[in-house]
Amino acid sequence: MSSAAISASSPALPSASSDGVPSGSDYKPRYIDIGINLADPIFRGRYHRKQRHPDDLEGVVQRSRDVGCTKLIVTGSSFKSSRDALKLAEQFPGTVFTTAGIHPCSSAIFERKHKRHHEADDAASGDEDGAEEHTPACGPDPTKPHAEDGDVDVAKSKQIIADLRKLVETAPSNALVALGEMGLDYDRLHYCSASTQRHAFAEQLKLVANLAEAGKPLPLFLHSRACHEDFVRLMKDQFGPRLETLPRGAVVHSFTGSIAEAEELMDLGLHLGINGCSLKTVENCDVVKVIRLDRLMIETDGPWCEVRPTHEGWKYLVKAADAARAKAQEAEEAQKAAEEAAREAAREAAAKEAAEKAAAAAAAAAAAGTPTDGGEPASNGRPPRPPRQKKQNNNGNNNQKKKEPAVPDRFKVVKKEKWEEGAMVKGRNEPCTIERIATAIAGIKGIPVEEVCEAAWANTVKVFGSLE
Ligand SMILES: [Zn+2]
Repeated sequence: MSSAAISASSPALPSASSDGVPSGSDYKPRYIDIGINLADPIFRGRYHRKQRHPDDLEGVVQRSRDVGCTKLIVTGSSFKSSRDALKLAEQFPGTVFTTAGIHPCSSAIFERKHKRHHEADDAASGDEDGAEEHTPACGPDPTKPHAEDGDVDVAKSKQIIADLRKLVETAPSNALVALGEMGLDYDRLHYCSASTQRHAFAEQLKLVANLAEAGKPLPLFLHSRACHEDFVRLMKDQFGPRLETLPRGAVVHSFTGSIAEAEELMDLGLHLGINGCSLKTVENCDVVKVIRLDRLMIETDGPWCEVRPTHEGWKYLVKAADAARAKAQEAEEAQKAAEEAAREAAREAAAKEAAEKAAAAAAAAAAAGTPTDGGEPASNGRPPRPPRQKKQNNNGNNNQKKKEPAVPDRFKVVKKEKWEEGAMVKGRNEPCTIERIATAIAGIKGIPVEEVCEAAWANTVKVFGSLE
């Protein structure tokens, strides 16, 4: 069924439609975060190798489930993070799924001058002392000089690919659902030179083909930043001019390219992953507008890539929040009007009853020949006073109410220094914010959020499998 058939304007259907897709006004969003760096130590409370607050990974996963994001595809971007991701899949079976690959920013391990063993390497650590252990952040860092071209060590390269193959072949197939993250990133050449990145990408694509030949076809989780031509060329070199031998489809995640680039990738059958980094500028949002629903996937790329108030995409969150507030106010007013109507009806009924009683008393008195005592009937024919409404407790002044943020937070947000159980940490993006991605995309496209959610879900399951 076409996802376009599901919309907020369609009549409310309390049950699932014929193909099992929930629809109608009782629709609850469902999400798969296709790119979440959940193996990053930051989700254990570790920031730059320092424990800053208790391990709150369980809380992160729970908040994700609370918003309907029940499946997390955890990015493996190095040997270490790929193995850590597999451990998470063991810890959260049926919720966490993983990828395994070497990120372009982690590809310096292919070079002769790289000293540490590739298995020991922590993600995109460019530091000799390994002081950085986080997954590669999204976005260029102009302060850092580009890495010089280094010689690729052929023997090392063979060993890396053999080890990666072994990792993939020995991982539980219900946990490891894709190869990657792999690709090119010419915005962050300080981690690894362009030539080495191309080598690492080409070698991993060859591995993809070899694994498919050996009966293990896997979809791909790809990264392409500021490198479109080389990226497409390497893909075509391996899988043919129409990517006709690509085993099982692929997603180019965290897409920030141009409209023309998006069109080319979509025409090649690739999917595009949208996160907060894809919603930064007016141009970014123009690209999102043209992404076809049958090519869309959504992600948070946490702990990175949150949608920020300075981003163009934020405006759509404000709009959606305003609309939600207006709708809530409308509902409140309708409720008040209904209550007032009920009170009015009660008043009328009471007045009628009192008048009838008075008439009956007068008739009885006349029949008995006794004058009335001039006393009034209890209510004097007037309706009883309506019960006093309770004053709302807002310190007696509406204007003193704390101003609600333009885009309300679903969960409490605190600084990491003030960490508390159940709260999100400021600046640490996590999968529960995926609803903001879907909301912004829906706003940009002018379609109900249900359409975005259902399309992204269907595409993800189609490429990555049923994730069970
Ligand atoms: Zn990436």
